[in-house]
Amino acid sequence: MTSLADEARIALDNLTDRATGILHPTLRLGVAGLSRAGKTVFITALVHNLLHGGRLPLFAAQAGGRITRTYLEEQPDDAVPRFQYEDHVRKMVEERLWPASTRAISELRLTIEFDSASGWSRLFSAGRISLDIVDYPGEWLLDLPLLDKDFAAFSAEAIERARLPARAAIAGDFLAALGSVDPAAPADEPTSQRLAATFTEYLRRGREDTTALSTLPPGRFLMPGDLEGSPALTFAPLAASKEALAVKGSFAAVHARRYEAYKSVVVKPFFRDHFARLDRQILLVDAMQAINAGPEAVRDLETALADILTCFRPGRASWLGSLLSRRIDRILVAATKADHLHRESHRKLEAIVRRLVDDAVRRAEFSGADVDVVAMAAVRATREASVEDKGERLPVIVGTPMAGERIGGETFDGIAETAIFPGDLPDDPGELFKRSGEANDAVPINFVRFRPPRLERTAEGLTLSLPHIRLDRAMQFLIGDRLA
Ligand code: GDP
Repeated sequence: MTSLADEARIALDNLTDRATGILHPTLRLGVAGLSRAGKTVFITALVHNLLHGGRLPLFAAQAGGRITRTYLEEQPDDAVPRFQYEDHVRKMVEERLWPASTRAISELRLTIEFDSASGWSRLFSAGRISLDIVDYPGEWLLDLPLLDKDFAAFSAEAIERARLPARAAIAGDFLAALGSVDPAAPADEPTSQRLAATFTEYLRRGREDTTALSTLPPGRFLMPGDLEGSPALTFAPLAASKEALAVKGSFAAVHARRYEAYKSVVVKPFFRDHFARLDRQILLVDAMQAINAGPEAVRDLETALADILTCFRPGRASWLGSLLSRRIDRILVAATKADHLHRESHRKLEAIVRRLVDDAVRRAEFSGADVDVVAMAAVRATREASVEDKGERLPVIVGTPMAGERIGGETFDGIAETAIFPGDLPDDPGELFKRSGEANDAVPINFVRFRPPRLERTAEGLTLSLPHIRLDRAMQFLIGDRLA
């Protein structure tokens, strides 16, 4: 019944989208990535560059001078928070600080007026397109596989993962709490809350910089949005036997019910109301964080990306497959923050990301969608230079590290510019997946967070747009054809 209702609703939504689309062409661009991958920075930079006529040589419409006007407009979805573009720009440009990261879904509509490149289509097309940018946490996509799993299956998997030796240090409290509870005993709320809290804390610690694990659903536990504290988010996996599940009011029964609620009030609405309406998608990946954390984090990122990418090619018979009447036809997987590396390493970063998603792309048979990979920096916080060291030329990057950042024994003050030898990535991406030397003792990249760049002003006092690395290539792939 629900599935029928879902289908009807999505069909109606798509119909409305299409009907308005004829009069007013729109393109819905999804921006996803695990937390801190760079979604907020990417959207802010993309919009800023379009509004301020940024230097975008690889974005054909802009490079050819065919964009006549760009402006922000009221977004079409009244129930979705607006992406706070103005606040984010102010923070980055005026304070030279990074904006607050994505916590939940948000949306922004940017309308572009342009002259078509061909005289023929100029006759017919209005030369106007609205780009609806939908920003959402990639963690939410990791929830899709839960729809096919009951509570017992979800629990068995989650507990098995928590017991992995590499996770002993972060999962200890949760496993101890779990051990003290009899799933068949009558549930009480304080204990349920403690279980959920220790489980959430374990998921959270898995995401810390030094661990950098990615594959830890339920996604909403870390990105609760406005559902924080609700029963649908207050459960934990339990070793629940059939007998325990059958006892009314037992921990097993209560948590199983909440798990089902999580799927129906949290997971399904997101896929139905937002995901199923996207036309294009960019998936941002912070590969460098995983590389620095070591091979386990790299392999884990690979699994997470595979899980995420399956959402874009669900089986026809699956719940999501039956909802997707419009198809995402372009997916860009973008390694962000390439400005932390010297140009000489960008190709290697791209090769690593290609390797990370290769299997997933092949397995999911993206026959209908173009998938591309790019190494980019939505905002370029560094410039390149070289220093002489013992007669050898070393490529370095120069920027202002954020206050409190450290390399070796040095702590930065957030004011002084510094040249840093960023380190180098291996020529063979396979090196990073190897099991030997699991510890992160051979950190390949010297990673410090830099402040956003100081924006130059023209002689007339105009602020120039934010500098970037290959943001224009990303834009051309994602929207270029619609401005041809
Ligand atoms: P979100 O959680 O995906 O929205 O991530 P954000 O966009 O907030 O980015 C997280 C952090 O990554 C920022 O605070 C910056 O420190 C850093 N970052 C993101 N994009 C870039 C980039 O293009 N260049 C540099 N240097 N840092 C970036």
